[in-house]
Amino acid sequence: MANTDVTKNYIDGKWRDSLAGTRIEVDDPSDGETIAVVAEAGPEDVEIAVAAAHRVFRDRVLIDMHPYDRGRMLCRVADALEARSDEIATINCAETGKALDLAHDEVRTAIRYLRYYGGLADKLEGRSIPRGANLVDYTVRSPFGVSAQIVPWNGPLELTARSLACAIATGNSVVVKSPELAPLSGVEIARACETAGLPAGAVNVLSGRGQTAGQALINHPDVRHIVFTGSMATGRTVLKTASDRIVPCIMELGGKSAAVVYSDADVDGVVEAVRIGTFLNAGQNCNNLTRLLVERSVADELVERVKVCVQGLSVGPGRENCDITPLISQKQRQGVERACQTALSQGARLVIGGTALSERSGYFMAATVFADVGQESNLFQREVFGPVLAVTEFDDPAMAVDLANGTDQGLAAGVFTRDIDRALWTADLLWAGQVYVNGWYVGGVETPFGGVKQSGYGREKGREALDGYVQTRNVGIRISQPSSGSSSSRRRCAK
Ligand code: NAD
Repeated sequence: MANTDVTKNYIDGKWRDSLAGTRIEVDDPSDGETIAVVAEAGPEDVEIAVAAAHRVFRDRVLIDMHPYDRGRMLCRVADALEARSDEIATINCAETGKALDLAHDEVRTAIRYLRYYGGLADKLEGRSIPRGANLVDYTVRSPFGVSAQIVPWNGPLELTARSLACAIATGNSVVVKSPELAPLSGVEIARACETAGLPAGAVNVLSGRGQTAGQALINHPDVRHIVFTGSMATGRTVLKTASDRIVPCIMELGGKSAAVVYSDADVDGVVEAVRIGTFLNAGQNCNNLTRLLVERSVADELVERVKVCVQGLSVGPGRENCDITPLISQKQRQGVERACQTALSQGARLVIGGTALSERSGYFMAATVFADVGQESNLFQREVFGPVLAVTEFDDPAMAVDLANGTDQGLAAGVFTRDIDRALWTADLLWAGQVYVNGWYVGGVETPFGGVKQSGYGREKGREALDGYVQTRNVGIRISQPSSGSSSSRRRCAK
C-alpha cells in the first residue's frame, strides 16, 4: 500500500508518520480483509506526544481558559463528530465488526459524552471553609497534568470520548493510546478535535501496541494520571508501573456480571435482557450479562425460552445489522472456544452453540448457552468476552445473592422480579458498581459507572467521573485584623 494511504498519528496538532516507520494493518473481523493501514506509534512518538501535552499543561493553556470556553471546545468536537456521524459509524462498524446500528449508537454516545462534560466544565467548584476571624480558606480542584488514556477495542469511539471529555473539561491535557485492533475510531476523534480548533498538544491520539507504545506512555515521567480501560491482567501490569511513580489511576476493568431471576419475573423481559445483554456485539462488552442465576422452579422453562431466542438470531457481518456479529480477532475466537471446551470438561451442560462458525471467513462464534454451571468452574468465575451465557440454579434469595457475589469481579449485576421489596433487597446486596432491575444496560451517559472488587475503581460517566480527573488543593490565608482596642477594630454583625 502506498505511503499516502497510511493513516497517521495526531501529535501536537499535526498528522505525523511514526518515526520508526512501522505499520499496523486493521482487519474487518467479518472477513479478515485489511481495511486500513495506520502508522504504528512507538516509544519515540510517545515521547513527542507527551512533551506536547506537558507543554500545554506547564503553560496553563487549558487551566487559564474560562471553563465555559473549555466546555464550548468539547461541544465543537461533538459537532464535528455529528457532522460526519454516518461515515464514522461505518468506520467503527468495519473495524470492530459490531452491528451498524450499534456503531451509530456508539457515535451518538460519544457525542453525548462530549456535550455532557462540555456542559459541566464550568460547574466544577471548590469550597470556602470557615476557620475563624483570622483565616480565609478555600479549595481549588486542579487537573493532574498529562492524562494517559489507554483504550480497548470493543467501544473505541465512545470510550475515548468519555475519558477525553472529562480530562479536557477539567483542564488536563491528553495522550490517547488507541487499541491496535481498532485504531480508526480514535483517528476520527482526533480529526474532530482538529476541526474543533483545540490548542495544539491538548489532545494527542496515537495508534500503537500495548507492549510498546502503551508501556512507554504509562512509564513516561511526565504522565501524571492514567485512565486504563481493559482487561484485569493488563490492568495489573499498568498498576505496577504506575506504583513506581505514585501515579493515580482510574481502572475500568472486566466483569462476570450476573442476573438474578426470581420465579415471578417477566420471562419475556428476561429473554430480551439476555438477547441484548449477552449477545450484542458478540458478547464483547465489559458489563455484559454473562451469568444467569435462575430460581430452580422456573429454570427449565427459561433455559428453553433462551434457546429458542438464540435459534432465532441471525448471524453475519455488522454492516448487515445481524444479531450475532464476529469476534474481533482469530485469537479472541480461539480463547472463547477454549472457554467452551473447558466448561464442558468441568461438567457444564451445553444447551446450544459452543463452537466457532468456521464455515464463515470471519471470526464468528456461535451464540452459546451452558446450563448447570458450577460455582467453582472457570465459566462461572472468569470473563470470556464472547457470546457465552452460563446458567446456574438457586433455591432461595440468600443463595442467589451468594452466587451473584461469588466471584472476584463486580462490574454489573441485575435482578428480575415483580416484587419491589425483593428487587430492592437484592439490589442492595448485589456487590457491583451498577445494578440493573428488570432490564439490562439500564444506565446512561449521566449515570456513574465503574467496578468494585477486581473490576476496578474510580468512576467514569455521570458527574462523579469528574472527581477522578481533579485533585483538591487547599489555600489557607492568614489575614491581619486592624490593631485591637480601637472601636473601629471591633467586629460586629451587620445591622
Ligand atoms: P487489553 O487489556 O488486552 O487491552 C486494553 C488496552 O491496553 C489496549 O489498548 C492495549 O494495547 C493496551 N495494553 C496492553 N498491554 C499494555 C501495557 N503493558 N501497557 C499499556 N497498555 C497496554 O483489553 P482488550 O482485550 O483490549 O479489551 C477487553 C477488556 O476490556 C475486557 O476485559 C473488558 O471487560 C474490558 N473493558 C472494560 C470496560 C469498562 O469500562 N470497565 C470497558 C470496555 C472494556
